[in-house]
Amino acid sequence: MPTLFEKIIAGDIPATVLHRDSRVIAFLDIRPAAPVHILIVPNKPIPTANDIADEDESLIGHMFIVARDLARQQGIAESGYRLIVNCNADGGQEVYHLHLHLLGGRPLGPMVSRIST
Ligand code: AMP
Repeated sequence: MPTLFEKIIAGDIPATVLHRDSRVIAFLDIRPAAPVHILIVPNKPIPTANDIADEDESLIGHMFIVARDLARQQGIAESGYRLIVNCNADGGQEVYHLHLHLLGGRPLGPMVSRIST
């Protein structure tokens, strides 16, 4: 079964696409958690961070380069932003096709709650 993001990559499900090249696609998150919330997704369907292969090193680097450029384009490079990859159940992953969240446009607060103060 193709993942939701494979269907977006194939054009079978609509998305607001901000960037597309031979290796990645970037589109707006449908339920944004910040004024800027973009997903950077490899065209290659890697299910989770656990499944990244050594040969994917340049692809993963490219995802960060695209995130950097999108942050500049969205005007949040200087104010700041957060890049997140969720992995499996404890990481809160919902879609099992690797993706990098780019979040910004407001102060995002602490990353996660501390175990103790
Ligand atoms: P994660 O929890 O890291 O797997 O994040 C999955 C993200 O995909 C969530 O932030 C969802 O809001 C987002 N999402 C789910 N369906 C769509 C869709 N059709 N278009 C864009 N983003 C989506």
